[in-house]
Amino acid sequence: VFRSESDLIERYFCELGAPRTDVALGIGDDAALLRPAAGYELALTTDALIEGVHFLQGAPARSLGHRALAVNLSDIAAMGAAPCWALLSLNLPLLDEAWLADFADGFGALARAHGVALVGGNLSRGALCITVALAGQVPAASALRRDGARPGDALYVSGCLGDAAAGLAQLRADEQSHGVGSQSAVEQYLRARFEYPTPRVALGQALRGVASACIDLSDGLYGDLGRLLQASACGAQLETEALPLSAALRSRLGTGAWQAALSGGEDYELCFSVPIDRTTRLEAIAAQSGEALTRIGTVRSEGGIALMQAKEVIQFSPSSFDHFRH
Ligand SMILES: [Mg+2]
Repeated sequence: VFRSESDLIERYFCELGAPRTDVALGIGDDAALLRPAAGYELALTTDALIEGVHFLQGAPARSLGHRALAVNLSDIAAMGAAPCWALLSLNLPLLDEAWLADFADGFGALARAHGVALVGGNLSRGALCITVALAGQVPAASALRRDGARPGDALYVSGCLGDAAAGLAQLRADEQSHGVGSQSAVEQYLRARFEYPTPRVALGQALRGVASACIDLSDGLYGDLGRLLQASACGAQLETEALPLSAALRSRLGTGAWQAALSGGEDYELCFSVPIDRTTRLEAIAAQSGEALTRIGTVRSEGGIALMQAKEVIQFSPSSFDHFRH
């Protein structure tokens, strides 16, 4: 039997996240009261993680707390906004206080790292499902959108692609073989890239005024870039040799690693376009932030994505990330 909802919320979620002076009233009343800054727009997003759809049964609670917030932070980052306030709705099949404590640890650490206050929530009984809503702020009319790419713009991605998909494949294989044996450094790295994604929050804000369009990569580069291009009424040429691949992914998948980088999901990196005359400003951003930014292609007026390998156009049918469906 659940201890009362308010007891548990008080215990695990009341002081979770960063303290913020623009929270007039946080958890404990019927609704939170916030003071958005003058001259800013609110950026709002929500994402749910459902057991068996977005994570495997028995996934570590700490990872779930981290990922539930990280996927939302990534959307706010893709808008060039600063994350501020979060709401958490948690459906739990049974009360497990150790699970709640680990979940709160994972969520809280990431929230504090990004200055996010948890200002409200709801706890109920049901199939395990975690829904986070996140609000950010961005100076009026300066948000990054998907529809600003123009022919001739250079296309970039942050970080390395495909690691999380390989990590998920590893977790599924472990589940099939009933248990995790000893794991190599490569396996541990890939698994961590799935369980603890790094949303590119500072990078997104630094790209305001530099990137012409931006999207975060949740469903795989091929599909997500397609969405950006469609919104911008453009196409692109992509160089498969340019795709940023980790040493771990190369050692795991060999010459097929680029396919995982194109179609694998859950990367939570940023993909963005930059007008050629702003690429020097981008180099300064990369140097300042320490983020790896890789040019992967060029926006063009013909629709669709032309994939180039060894200077030839190649055919590729992406099986975009299937969220565990076969
Ligand atoms: Mg997104």
